[in-house]
Amino acid sequence: MSRPPHIAIVTPAFNETAVLPQLFARLTAVFDAHPDVAWHAVLIDDGSRDQTAALIEAQCARDRRFKLVALSRNFGFQNALAAGLAQCGGMDAVVTMDADLQDPPEIIPEMVAAWRNGAEVVLAVRRSRQEGGLRRVGFDLFHRLFGSLVDIRIDRNTGTFGLLGRDALATFNQLPEVHRFFPGLRSWVGFPRAEVYYDRLERAAGAPAQSFRRLVRYALDGIFSFSHLPLRMLTYAGLGVAGIGFAIGVFFIVRRLLGIEVAQTGFTTLVTLVLFLGGVQLVGIGVLGEYLGRIYDEVKRRPNYVIKRRVGFD
Ligand code: UDP
Ligand code: MG
Repeated sequence: MSRPPHIAIVTPAFNETAVLPQLFARLTAVFDAHPDVAWHAVLIDDGSRDQTAALIEAQCARDRRFKLVALSRNFGFQNALAAGLAQCGGMDAVVTMDADLQDPPEIIPEMVAAWRNGAEVVLAVRRSRQEGGLRRVGFDLFHRLFGSLVDIRIDRNTGTFGLLGRDALATFNQLPEVHRFFPGLRSWVGFPRAEVYYDRLERAAGAPAQSFRRLVRYALDGIFSFSHLPLRMLTYAGLGVAGIGFAIGVFFIVRRLLGIEVAQTGFTTLVTLVLFLGGVQLVGIGVLGEYLGRIYDEVKRRPNYVIKRRVGFD
């Protein structure tokens, strides 16, 4: 290569004042240690309510390799990430990572090396995960469920952290969907892949900004946008219940025709059946609703984010 490759680090930040100074220092150290690459860091302020935007802006003034994209309000991690990636059109590659230093910037050069060896998509795979308790159980459960429901491959130990080459990025930026599940889409785009390994630490400071509710919604986005199996399961359940109903019907009709007396009791049975079938139908409607709501969001064609301000872009 005659000119150095141009690589952008894309990092959404939401109320991350406590970690930003460390993030800047560690990114700068990585950049300075690898002058054979032209670096950029694109930080997206996802409508933070603290000094996040101001801190990033000050860093942009100090170091022209840092850039700020400020969104008009909090649009959520996925949309903030999409906003950042959309600003990286001319880059040779982009690295996606969290702001909280759970993704150590020090392994970025390894990802770049893997990319230079021909990989278009590089995944950072966690050797260990130090989250405990409910979150951990939730992540494990989701990955098991997701793995059994969808066709595309999602490595259990990958998250946002990774690298996309120019072609993968262009494909990604063209995807029109509103409900974005980044690991799924990254797997969907294809291209030669490589993996690098790292140890995932606790966040450097501050508290996790992603509420549990958001994570659940994100997990549902993952499942419903990559699988029709919930719908198919409804069909099968319907067929099963209808089949059983038909058999029972035939049984009673035959008894009646043969003149075998049908007992007039059965209140408990009826109540149980009505409630059970009512419940099954409501669950079915709920599953349909999950798809319907997502279809509605997609057809509205509303943009995924609104940019308020950009700093450091020429
Ligand atoms: N984040 C964001 N918008 C949000 C919530 C989070 O941009 O609405 C960013 C946050 O600043 C961090 C990353 O997304 O850089 C991951 O968030 P967090 O650490 O809370 O999630 P977790 O590590 O628990 O998945
Ligand atoms: Mg985190």
